[in-house]
Amino acid sequence: MPAELFKSVEESLSINRVLEVLTRLVSFQSVNPGGNEEEAARYIGEFMKAVGCEVTLQEVEPGRPNVLAVLRGTGEAKAVILNTHIDVVPAGEGWSGDPFQLRVEDGKAIGRGVMDAKGPLAAMMAAIEAIARSGKRLPGDIVLAAVVDEEAASKGAKALPVNLEASLAVIGEATNRTLAIAHRGSIRPVLAAKGVAAHSSTPHLGKNAVSLMAKAVVALDAFAERELAERRHPLTGQSSLAVTIMNGGIKESMIPDYCEALIDRRLIPGESEERAIQELMDVLEAEEALKGQLHIARMVPTTGAASETDVNHPVVKLCRDAISAVYGQQDTTVTGLTANCDMTHFAARGIPSVIYGPGDFSVAHKTDEWVTLDELLNAARVYARIALEAATMRN
Ligand SMILES: [Zn+2]
Repeated sequence: MPAELFKSVEESLSINRVLEVLTRLVSFQSVNPGGNEEEAARYIGEFMKAVGCEVTLQEVEPGRPNVLAVLRGTGEAKAVILNTHIDVVPAGEGWSGDPFQLRVEDGKAIGRGVMDAKGPLAAMMAAIEAIARSGKRLPGDIVLAAVVDEEAASKGAKALPVNLEASLAVIGEATNRTLAIAHRGSIRPVLAAKGVAAHSSTPHLGKNAVSLMAKAVVALDAFAERELAERRHPLTGQSSLAVTIMNGGIKESMIPDYCEALIDRRLIPGESEERAIQELMDVLEAEEALKGQLHIARMVPTTGAASETDVNHPVVKLCRDAISAVYGQQDTTVTGLTANCDMTHFAARGIPSVIYGPGDFSVAHKTDEWVTLDELLNAARVYARIALEAATMRN
């Protein structure tokens, strides 16, 4: 990729343009659950159409469209995908201003989603716009995939076409000047204990489902401490398990015949969902008192599985080099996210994937969420560089 093209694209990127887009994005209350992702999606679609992209709104559920915008290349190289999400978590209480009206103070943009993930989204949109304005037709397509529902169960990313092909997908989540190549996943099985109802004055005539579940929780906690805490991934940290919701019993004077507990099980790369379920059941079946007493009633949907890209994959070097060049830092660190991430759904389609975005992840989901203007502009430059570079990699 000629250095002049990088240079002219980078120079045409301005913080004012990124802020203009971000202001609009923040103004849409695409809160999950219950908000309006469609308005935001329509704006993104129209913006990308004006840039010169072919735009498709993919209805995931009524009123919840993904946006797929393609800046066509010549077809001589594979596509590169820039992905992030349209939805945000609710604002919550205690903001020092309107969370859905972008404010700029002391070199920071403040508002719900400025970092997670409307900041990266605005930076991606501005980057693609700058590339389109350069007038140079690249060998590969550049695709913006802005998806719904990442903050709940990733219905958007899961619904993307199964035959999606690309040499690289970049997921826009805050990575604090590093490149993340791995993230944790989760499953949420709801465990059920079946007992026998009886009058509570004669408990021996029934079987107490809450007592059964209590034994199960003790066994699971012990397993988490003994086994899961020892399972470590160098980039994402350890496996874990926590019982986060429990329900049982309907009347003071009745032995409960049913009890449910939700298990939040965090997976590290290399742990499969099926294996993790089997393991839970094995732990419970190993307890004499619990044999045959518990089953999994249902699975509460999550963002998805853990995933990881080989640190030696060429796209990792490409992206690290781009980040290093923009930030003027020596050697960009490779990290992993402890949280869930939509990367898993691109990896599942065989697309080499990485995570990069402006800001520090610890600010996500908080009151007065902020990101610096420097970070926003740098993110737009990084996305532009990565897209230019990847869209010229020959097949
Ligand atoms: Zn996010």
